[in-house]
Amino acid sequence: MRRFSDIMPKIMGMCPYGVLLLDENDFILECNHAALEMFEYTKDAILKLRLQDLLLSPAANEQEQEYPKIFCKRKDASSFPAHITTQGFSHQQKTYKVCFVRDISEEVSIWEQLTYMARYDTLTGLPNRSFILKKLQNLKKPVIVGMLDLDNFKMINDTYGHPVGDSILFTFGQLLLNMAPQLQAGRFGGEEFLIMFSEGSLSAAREKMQQVLFQAKKTCQEYGGISFSCGLCVYDPAMIGVDTAISKADALLYYAKQSGRGRIITPEDVAKRDLIYP
Ligand code: GH3
Ligand code: MG
Ligand code: MG
Repeated sequence: MRRFSDIMPKIMGMCPYGVLLLDENDFILECNHAALEMFEYTKDAILKLRLQDLLLSPAANEQEQEYPKIFCKRKDASSFPAHITTQGFSHQQKTYKVCFVRDISEEVSIWEQLTYMARYDTLTGLPNRSFILKKLQNLKKPVIVGMLDLDNFKMINDTYGHPVGDSILFTFGQLLLNMAPQLQAGRFGGEEFLIMFSEGSLSAAREKMQQVLFQAKKTCQEYGGISFSCGLCVYDPAMIGVDTAISKADALLYYAKQSGRGRIITPEDVAKRDLIYP
């Protein structure tokens, strides 16, 4: 084995990961070429530093993250995400640490793209069905939920063509996105949207949706404006499940359609009209 010891520096030079040798106080005693390239320091400069000089502030690194990573800091103060594996060892009665640093910028970027694709609808930019349902499932306090369906949308497609239908869906998605954070919306499927107000009363949510309807009717005028029907109800996670809340809102949406479309219906409206509410 001894005859190979002189080729270890060469191997360290070829290693694609940054390798840092630290003393017991985390001062950098030695490093390989990849570490110099990664952090953009000269050898002389890096050997004056401690490991923490190469990391972003502890606060930045202690934030809750979905994809585990450490933010490293280059000489010019720009940062990059990394995985760092540290191993302690003793040599001639002294303790040392060796850190292997892997730049994971590319995999983090791919992970972010995939996560976005898994959570958001590509046409409207709104959260997709599973993501908005997950948000509802994680709720601890009561909210107002609504099911919303564009009116006579098939006729729009049939009259003006599918691309126009798509652009109307996009415009409507933007309208809903502009209401955040007061109103959160997701594309439930097709021309149906699930909405949620986390603050305020049912009547305030109803009032807000009337304003959205008024605004929607003024958009896409060349295609007759956008109209929708909506069912709104309270969802208290302590009392009912998400599925039940959605079924209630869906039943109210059905009443909105039955009673002429282009309107918002709450359980109170159903009671007033003496309809049977599920
Ligand atoms: P109602 O007022 O009763 O809701 O009538 P509607 O025509 O809106 O409902 P229907 O269920 O008959 O038709 C929904 C239409 O929505 C049919 C479908 O082709 C269209 N649609 C669903 N998703 C998309 C989409 O992504 N793009 C386009 N252009 N159309 C879509
Ligand atoms: Mg419809
Ligand atoms: Mg529909």
